[in-house]
Amino acid sequence: MRERVARDRARNAATRGRGSHGRQPRAGVRKADLFPRWGGCCYCDGPAEHIDHVTPLSKGGRDVLSNAVPACADCNLSKAALTLAEWARTFQERP
Ligand SMILES: [Zn+2]
Repeated sequence: MRERVARDRARNAATRGRGSHGRQPRAGVRKADLFPRWGGCCYCDGPAEHIDHVTPLSKGGRDVLSNAVPACADCNLSKAALTLAEWARTFQERP
C-alpha cells in the first residue's frame, strides 16, 4: 500500500494552493479600485453599491476598469444586461 500513499501525496501536492476545481481566482474590476474614482452611482448620484459594466459582459464587454462604473442597486438592476442605448429606450417608453 506504500505506492498508493505516495500517489495520493503527489496528487495532493499538485492541487494544493488552487481553489476548488483548480480554477484561478477571478481577476477583474474591484470596488476598491473603481469606487474612489467616482462620487457615487454614475447614473443618478445615489450610493455606489454595484459594479456596472457599460457594455454588459453578456454582450462581449470586458471586466476591466474602462468598461466599469459604479451604480446603485436600483440603476444596476434596472439596466441589467442592457447596453446604455437599450436602457435609455426603456425610459422613453415610460408615461
Ligand atoms: Zn443610480
